Amino acid sequence: MMSENLYDLLASRFPTDRSKPCFLLSGGTAISYGMLESGAAHVAARLVAEGVRPGDRVALQAEKSAEGIMIYLGALKAGAVFLPLNSAYTAAEVDYFLNDAEPKVFVTNPETWVREATGYPPQVTSVARDGADLACLIYTSGTTGRSKGAMLSHGSLAANALALHEAWGFTPQDVLLHALPVFHVHGLFVALHCALLSGCPMVWLPKFVDADVLAGLDRATVMMGVPTFYTRLLANPAFTREKADGVRLFISGSAPLLPSTFAEFEERTGQRILERYGMSEAVIITTNPLAGGRLPGSVGYPLPGVDLRIGGGEQTGVIEIRGPSVFTAYWRMPDKTAEEFTADGFFITGDVGRRDPDGRVWISGRAKDLIISGGYNVYPKEIELIFDELPGVIESAVIGVPHPDFGEGVVAVVMGKGDEAAMIAEARRELAAYKTPKRVVFLDDLPRNAMGKVQKNLLRERYADLFQA
Ligand code: AMP
Repeated sequence: MMSENLYDLLASRFPTDRSKPCFLLSGGTAISYGMLESGAAHVAARLVAEGVRPGDRVALQAEKSAEGIMIYLGALKAGAVFLPLNSAYTAAEVDYFLNDAEPKVFVTNPETWVREATGYPPQVTSVARDGADLACLIYTSGTTGRSKGAMLSHGSLAANALALHEAWGFTPQDVLLHALPVFHVHGLFVALHCALLSGCPMVWLPKFVDADVLAGLDRATVMMGVPTFYTRLLANPAFTREKADGVRLFISGSAPLLPSTFAEFEERTGQRILERYGMSEAVIITTNPLAGGRLPGSVGYPLPGVDLRIGGGEQTGVIEIRGPSVFTAYWRMPDKTAEEFTADGFFITGDVGRRDPDGRVWISGRAKDLIISGGYNVYPKEIELIFDELPGVIESAVIGVPHPDFGEGVVAVVMGKGDEAAMIAEARRELAAYKTPKRVVFLDDLPRNAMGKVQKNLLRERYADLFQA
C-alpha cells in the first residue's frame, strides 16, 4: 500500500521549480521550497540517528521560525510524532508536558539544531505511515483541569488540509500572510498546510506587529488571523481600503469575531471577513463559503464529510461532530476520551450552538460558560450581543459568579466605559429580568490567551466574591 505519510502529500504539491520561495522573510530574503525540503530531510536523518523510531515524540518549544517548520516536517518524515509547545510556557508547565508525552527529543533552539542536522546525510524517503498512525500531539489550552493531548493522525490532518485548500480556493498564485503562532493548530495546520498544498509563498512574520503586517499586505493575497488581528488593523488608520485591495480573502477564527468588527471591516475595505470554526481536536469543522453569503455571527457550514448535530434534542445545545479530521483520543486518558464521545462515535465539542433551517451553524459559547441563575439557563452570548451595541462598550464578556439567592448571578464585564445603572436599565429593555446582569464591571482590556480568546475562567475567579457579603 502507498504510504499515507502527511509529509509526502504536502511535498507532492511543492512547486516543480524548487527554487521558488516558501518563506518570505523580513529584509527581502527568502527560504525556498528546495531549502525546506532539504532541511526536513536532514532533520529526519538526525532524528533517526538519535534513535527516534516511528511513533516516538519529538517536542519543540521555541519562537516561531522557518527552522521550526523544518523540524515539524522532518519529524513527520521520520515517522515521529510532533509535539509543539507554547513558547510562553514556564519551565514548570513544560515539565508537565514532557512527563506526560515522554518525547525522545526536545528541541529549544531550532536554528542551531537544524544547522547541526545538515551534518547528517539527508534522508530522502519518508518512513511509511498509515493514515491512522499518529502524526501530532496537540495539548489543549486547558482552562479547567489538566491539559489534554489531542492525538491527530496523518490521515486526519491530510483530510482537513485538502478540504480547506479546496474550500478557500488556494492556488500557486496565492501569497499567504502568516503572522500566527505555530504551536497551535491555527498557524501550524490551517495556515501552513494550505500554503504548502498550493506550493505558494508565505509572508512569514514571527508575530503580529502592525507595521510588518501592513507591509506584508502589499504582497499578500490571503490573510489568516484571530479576531484580535482584525481589531488591531482597524484601530490603525494606516489600514486603508487600498491596503486591503490586493487581498482576495481575509479569514478569521479561533475565537468569535464580533459582528461589529465584521461590519467595521466591511465598511473600511469593502470586504467581508470569512469566519470559520475549529478546535485542537478536529482542526476546522465549519466555514463560511468562499462564494456566497458570509454572515456576521455565523461560522458557516460543516466542511464536506463532517457530520454535525446538536445534542440534547433542543434547538440550541452542545455541538457534536463526526468526520475524517476528528482526533483519535486524548493521549493516555482513556476515561476522558470515552466521556467525550457518544455511543455512536460523535465527539462532544463542548461548544453550544444551533443550526438554522439553511444548515448554517451559530455558536453561542462554551457549555462550561453557561450560567444558571435562579434555575434558568442564561446564554452569555445573547447578553453580550446586546452589551456590545451599547455606547462606550468595545467588547463585553458575560459570566456567572456565585450568588447567595440565585446560585449564580449574571455579571457583564465590559471593556470600555459607561454608567453601570444606565447600562443595566438599557439591557433590561431587551432582556428578561433573570438574564439582565445584576452588576456591570469595567476593565481597560479583557484577559485573553495567545489566540485572542477571552479567558472567562480568570474573570470568574476575579469576580467570585462580587455578590458575597
Ligand atoms: P482551541 O482548541 O484552543 O483551538 O480552542 C477551540 C475553541 O475555540 C472552540 O471549541 C471554540 O470554543 C472556540 N472557537 C474557535 N473558532 C471559533 C469561532 N469562529 N467562533 C467562536 N468560537 C470559536
